[in-house]
Amino acid sequence: DFKSRVTVVGSGNWGSVAAKLIASNALKLPSFHDEVRMWVFEEVLPNGEKLTDVINKTNENVKYLPGIKLGRNVVADPDLENAVKEANMLVFVTPHQFMGGICKKLKGKVTGEVEAISLVKGMEVKKEGPCMISSLISKELGINSCVLMGANIANEIAVEKFSEATVGYRESREIADTWVQLFSTPYFMVTPVHDVEGVELCGTLKNVVAIAAGFVDGLEMGNNTKAAIMRIGLREMRALSKLLFPSVKDSTFFESCGVADVITTCLGGRNRRVAEAFAQSGGKRSFDELEAEMLQGQKLQGVSTAREVYEVLNHCGWLEMFPLFSTVHQICTGRLKPEAIVHYRDHKA
Ligand code: NAD
Ligand code: 13P
Repeated sequence: DFKSRVTVVGSGNWGSVAAKLIASNALKLPSFHDEVRMWVFEEVLPNGEKLTDVINKTNENVKYLPGIKLGRNVVADPDLENAVKEANMLVFVTPHQFMGGICKKLKGKVTGEVEAISLVKGMEVKKEGPCMISSLISKELGINSCVLMGANIANEIAVEKFSEATVGYRESREIADTWVQLFSTPYFMVTPVHDVEGVELCGTLKNVVAIAAGFVDGLEMGNNTKAAIMRIGLREMRALSKLLFPSVKDSTFFESCGVADVITTCLGGRNRRVAEAFAQSGGKRSFDELEAEMLQGQKLQGVSTAREVYEVLNHCGWLEMFPLFSTVHQICTGRLKPEAIVHYRDHKA
């Protein structure tokens, strides 16, 4: 009988938790091989050991998810091509800025009947306009890609606290159900939604809203202001998603990937935390410096996403319709002060 082989491409904070979830299910489900490969962007730790070797020895990602056992069936592999070679199910989960390079390296190397899912929150902006990461995967590798997004702070799921997530799919409900099965646990409840663009844009755009929420926290503007930012942010998310993809459904914004992810990221996410420190410094310290100091190798997505969104809005002549998104970018680049986060007219986007 045919058994699916899964490879996780990426091994950061969320990548490691995704590998843990998948590994526990691969052991239980007869239609999957036990072994789950995890591609690791190799690095040498301060003690001189390679991260891959340490993961394989200790079963822990000591740098990005310390203290959590991934499951003995997770095998770390620093060779990207080798890691995907035998897999028919690929899970992409790296910071979005690395996905262009990863797809280039894999071009022509993924053959046969392979399905992908992207957990990457972000997009690329090309001359023709925005390119979602699932589309990048599909175009570059010639394979179908679903997405999984949701209110999913990785460290909480790592210790098995209950949360929900949304799988967005394009055509095949059957394939979406396979992904749902691979990720679902009693503490991780996954729902399929027939709206891949809506789900992916929710996951991507909420990171810009989280930066705005961080500014509000850094300036101690209070709970009402933060709730206002979340509401306006959610409305801009929906408006932009529908302008870019008219097929996007309103109901998607009520799934875990929508309102729930906005809330959790604005309360407890990394984007929020670093943006808070940026505002506390009066915009004097750079995001790059704060990211390196506060996140120790983990990556922010919100600042680059704000820039990418701004490019799209500017190109399309939509800047005035999206005052929150455009203000976030202008604060990040120092053109506006953090206080400007509430100094705009709320055009009814
Ligand atoms: P992370 O923020 O922990 O980033 C670090 C990872 O980037 C490490 O694996 C590192 O090896 C890798 N890296 C560094 N330089 C690289 C390079 N040049 N090429 C390739 N890889 C390189 O990563 P993460 O938390 O796993 O996030 C991945 C995606 O998942 C992001 O889009 C993020 O928005 C999303 N996400 C994260 C969380 C979370 O709580 N961490 C939750 C949901 C979604
Ligand atoms: P941060 O990257 O801001 O930590 O957000 C994580 C996330 O996407 C939660 O769903």
